[in-house]
Order: sequence, then structure tokens, then C-alpha cells
Amino acid sequence: MSNAPHLTFDLDTAGVSRGHLIVPGGADRGELLLPVFGLNKGEGPRLLVTGGNHGNELEGPLVARRLIERLPNAQTCGRVIVLPVLNPLAVEARSSNTPLDGLDLNRVFPGRADGSVIERIADAVSRVLLPMAEIVFDLHSFGPAWDCPPAVMTHPIADADLLAKTLQMAEAFKLPVTLLWEHYDTAGMFDSWAHSQGKLFVCAEFGGGTVSAEALAVYEAGLRNALVALGLVEGQVENVSLSHNESIQTLETLVSDKLKSPARGIFEPRCSVLDEVKQGDLIGILHPMDSLSAESIGIRAPRPSIVLAIGSGAHVDRNEGVAFLARPLKILN
Ligand SMILES: [Zn+2]
Repeated sequence: MSNAPHLTFDLDTAGVSRGHLIVPGGADRGELLLPVFGLNKGEGPRLLVTGGNHGNELEGPLVARRLIERLPNAQTCGRVIVLPVLNPLAVEARSSNTPLDGLDLNRVFPGRADGSVIERIADAVSRVLLPMAEIVFDLHSFGPAWDCPPAVMTHPIADADLLAKTLQMAEAFKLPVTLLWEHYDTAGMFDSWAHSQGKLFVCAEFGGGTVSAEALAVYEAGLRNALVALGLVEGQVENVSLSHNESIQTLETLVSDKLKSPARGIFEPRCSVLDEVKQGDLIGILHPMDSLSAESIGIRAPRPSIVLAIGSGAHVDRNEGVAFLARPLKILN
């Protein structure tokens, strides 16, 4: 039996193909079979679409399934590979991390062949699927504890040319926000690894805590816009938004733009995503619940900003993030 990750089918086959990516077993569990779809229409862009990187972000797997249904009648050239669920263990557990090893798939790339199950998934994706693509869309959501507008994001990339092309790719979704996100902890992320391999890689991010029909429609329309921009499908690009008429904006958020809770308690948001705030404006209030004599604490904007994402009324620990602020990105040329 081969102990290397492999596909059960040949993605070079012309037209539609379906099968599995085999993630070999290890000490913690047996092999995993991840369903994979491929559509090969010859010359053209080579795109990999993945969802279910985090198990409590379910828009991605749903939109990936819709893509699989739609592509056979829509794709005119190139190759598209779709892996709707990267981490079935986390999806089934409805948790961000994998219950079996407690690891976050998005911190273990490129993985290890002899590691835990989640490291073996990362290894299989890195070695078998990623080399077949030049562009990757990883479909995330901001997670159930946050409200954030439909966004496509990248982290900073040292290669300025790749960063400019990546931001252009993100903007092609025509979602309300394109985001350059400076993150304190990018080691082991799927995107960081793919960028190091010279791939064009963007993440879609949606917020709101629940999967809604409206959000799915927006997500799907954004993905369709990107496929049109790549020339993989024909059609019109459309601007898409949720209930309010957001203008499309390209923003950046720095590590220092993450506002943290000053104490344990329940965070009450006092503004909405995409609000423009001035220095000193109230972003939210932290209500300590351990003692009723402890005063509630206002959390204020340290500088003029746009509210990118805000905690949606969760109980938080001291120093846990409660809001991300942002500003228009100026480094584009
Ligand atoms: Zn995620």
C-alpha cells in the first residue's frame, strides 16, 4: 500500500473528473478520503478552490458545492480543481481546530508526512494539489463570534509584484472590501506557504455568525466575478453587497488595529461594520460579570478608522480581540 498522499483519479483527464485525495493514516487515525472535483478544459488559468479550512466557517464548503454544480455548463477554458472540505474532522465537530490533535490546519502548512492527522492533510494538499494550480481561492468566514462585511483578503507578501497581483485578484471579486491584513502570526498559514511557492492566493472572509441565504448569494456572486476576471467563465461582472449599499473599498488593517478587551466580560458592540469613526469614538463596552461593583469599560477608537470587524456580543477574556479597525490602503501604485 502506498503511504504517500495521492489522488484516486487523474486530474489531467479532459472534462469532468471526480475522486478523492488520499491522506495516509498515521498513529492517531487511519487514512482520510477528501472528495475532489476537477474540470479540465485545456489551456488557460489553473485554479484550486478550497473550503472548510476551519470547521466553523461553512459558507466556503457550500459555495464550493454550488461551484461544482455550475462549472460544467459555465467553464470555457483552463482547469479548475475544487476541494470543498479541507478539514472534515473540524467541520464535523463544528470547531475551528481539529478535535483529535487540537491543531489549526491554517497554522501547520506545509504539513508533515509523519505528523498528526492535520499535518498529514496539509502535507497532502501541499504536495499533491497545490503544484497543479497557479491560483488558489481559500473560502473562509470570519467565524461565528464576529460581524464583518464580505471581504477578500491577503496578508502582506514580501514579493511586491506578487502582492500587487494578489490584491488585483482580490479586487476582482468586487466584494465590498478588499483587505491587506497584517497578522501577528502567519507562520504555517496555507496562504503564506502558497505565496512562498509563487502562487496567487486569496482568502474570502464573511462574517455574521450564521449561514444566511443572502450571504451565500453574495459569496457566490463574488466568486463568479473572479472566475469571469480570470477568463474561466463568460459573463458580466457585477457589484455585490449585503443589505446596505457599501461602496467597494480596499483597506488595510495592522496588528495595532486589533482592539483587545481590557477585562473579562461580555462585549457589547456600539458601532457597525464599515462605520467611519473618529479618535475617541466609542467602539463598544466591556461589561465585567464577575462583580457587579466593577464598572463597565468603554473601548474607544485610538485613531480615525473604518470599523472592519466587530465582536458580536460574545463573552471574552482579557486581551481577547473585540474589534478590527482599518483604513484605506495607500501603497497601491
Ligand atoms: Zn478561517
